[in-house]
Amino acid sequence: MHIFSKSFTQQEPIPEAAIEAAVAVMRSGRLHRYNLAEGERGETALLEQEFADSLGVPYCLACASGGYAMQIALRAAGLQFGDKVLCNAFTLSPVPGSIHGAGGVPVLVDIQDDSTVDVDDLRRAAEESGARFFLLSHMRGHIGDMQAIVAACNELDIVLIEDCAHTMGASWKGQPSGTFGKIGCFSTQTYKHLNSGEGGLLTTDDPEIMRRAVILSGSYMLYDRHLAAPGADSFGDVRLQTPNCSGRMDNLRAAVLRPQLAEMPDRRERWNRLYRVLEEGFGQEKSVVLIPRPPEEGFVGSSIQFRLPELSRERIAAFIAGCERRSIPLKWYGQHEPEDYTSRYDSWRYLGNTRSVPNTEKMLATLCDLRIPLTFDEEDCRAIARLIIEALQESE
Ligand SMILES: *Cc1c(COP(=O)(O)O)cnc(C)c1O
Repeated sequence: MHIFSKSFTQQEPIPEAAIEAAVAVMRSGRLHRYNLAEGERGETALLEQEFADSLGVPYCLACASGGYAMQIALRAAGLQFGDKVLCNAFTLSPVPGSIHGAGGVPVLVDIQDDSTVDVDDLRRAAEESGARFFLLSHMRGHIGDMQAIVAACNELDIVLIEDCAHTMGASWKGQPSGTFGKIGCFSTQTYKHLNSGEGGLLTTDDPEIMRRAVILSGSYMLYDRHLAAPGADSFGDVRLQTPNCSGRMDNLRAAVLRPQLAEMPDRRERWNRLYRVLEEGFGQEKSVVLIPRPPEEGFVGSSIQFRLPELSRERIAAFIAGCERRSIPLKWYGQHEPEDYTSRYDSWRYLGNTRSVPNTEKMLATLCDLRIPLTFDEEDCRAIARLIIEALQESE
């Protein structure tokens, strides 16, 4: 039996230019984002400016993590303690966690077979709950029909916030993911598209939301040191009425990120080449149902998902075990106990009673997920596809 030899959790090294920039920050001693020499703009403010430019939006705030960006996004959008917040039932645990952390109450919305949000159920959930916010995860990089989602939110008077942890660099009909809602939230955690260990980015074109987000992130009265925020003279009462919920990014992480941001278009291309090799390999097997990639979607294939709708639980469990024996850590969302990053909505017990989401239940029962690190090449992906198909046939 062949065994795959590379690690699915090994990322590429940090680019040399980023290492040099990080060393320069350390030599300066000025790691805090507001600790600037005369005339210096600082790595964090420059990262914000560059990220805002890459999306074509005026404002960007760098902060401690993607989950933190979502928390302050909700608060900056006007969430009050106890307010309901819609979120797709298929997401990762930091999403309901950030709603909870911001004082909101998550309301689950069902998904379709293509893993994106079910807009009809979004309408039902909004009407039943009276929620005024929707934190939409583009889960595993699959983007729903953004025209339909935005239209429903506008009609229902819902503030749309996008969780773009898996869609940095992605687009829908040419428009960057994160620019459809009022706010876009991104993560620069090691397993996402840029790697600073931990980190988050929030973007918006709304000056009032941005002023609140800047103060919330812990700017003290130093908001004039931002380059992608509204003018300092516009902060008026906001600076006194907004709590400081300390969660800034520092210059060291921003220095590590800036050269990586410039590589994003190239990374996207490399990821998609690997994705297409896996997709083609899995497509050989009739029982494997891939998630469609509509032409409107400019995706970044940093992970791949497929369903096995005709297979029993026992058969899927045997298949996953066969993948493990080949050193392929295929994740299965149908597992009853949460494992690694695949916890599912029914393991978030603190939510209490939730709406029923039958299609999510059905989908997750047979959904498999595989990370695609850029340390793999096309030959690795061909080998992975072969080994996975072998494990599938063996489990028969
Ligand atoms: C990683 C992730 C987050 C949170 O990002 P952190 O930077 O780890 O806080 C949020 N949503 C999704 C879908 C994620 O995968």
